Amino acid sequence: MTCSARYTVPIPPSPSWPWSRYAPFPPFGYGRRMSRRLLTLGLVAGATATTAATAASARPAAREATAAKPRRRAGVGRASGTNLPRGFTWPPSQTMLDAEADCERGLDAAGVAWRPADRDGHIVDAVTIDDAVLGGITYTPVFGQGPYKLDCQLALALATIGPELHATGVREVRFGSIYRWSNVRVLGKTRNVLSRHALGLAMDVVSFVDGDGREARVARDYGKGDALLLEIERRIDASRAFRLVLTPKNDPISHRDHFHIEANPSYAAAPPQS
Ligand SMILES: [Zn+2]
Repeated sequence: MTCSARYTVPIPPSPSWPWSRYAPFPPFGYGRRMSRRLLTLGLVAGATATTAATAASARPAAREATAAKPRRRAGVGRASGTNLPRGFTWPPSQTMLDAEADCERGLDAAGVAWRPADRDGHIVDAVTIDDAVLGGITYTPVFGQGPYKLDCQLALALATIGPELHATGVREVRFGSIYRWSNVRVLGKTRNVLSRHALGLAMDVVSFVDGDGREARVARDYGKGDALLLEIERRIDASRAFRLVLTPKNDPISHRDHFHIEANPSYAAAPPQS
């Protein structure tokens, strides 16, 4: 499963970067809270065993990318002119760390059973979810076992849209992968741009299961005009919690069998108060 982006930027340093320098998670005064529930499920997932395992070890070539003008379309929020969130730097700036501390407080307020995890790739604030529940929706991996790491910002976005998904009848989301170190792939071509999967901000969803146990599979049912899938697509597109959703409609080649959804945090410093 692959994903997409609309912008091109120079590729950041490869994961040969000394990640261990930042692990365990540095003491930024997060007040990190261990979860109440100690179930081992965690967003237990394996990445798409075939894709994630290989993709996580894949090292995108660090070549200069050609600058391209951002292209806007309905449902796609403007990023920073790159595929990275606005204000994103590596290593993370203090502004970014402060934003993640706010995010963690948001997870607490939403009652999410999260716990901190060591960073992978360019995940700013890696967390796992003990009971795999966000916003009343259970997230189940299609392949492998977890715990599955994701950035706090994606966890919070999923917790935010959970009640909306629940209202459509969704109770479970089955996903192929979240974090993996990979470049963008769209319309059948791999771009020289780091995917937001490498930031732990994106998830590839294979299917949605409703309260009656019916599974709406993107690969099988989207082309038939499945009402549930179309409604989910509409709601995620409309949500400010997400930057974009890629589906068989807007990318029938690389996204014919899954929805790619990604969080859209802004790490830009707040303008000075006057
Ligand atoms: Zn994707």
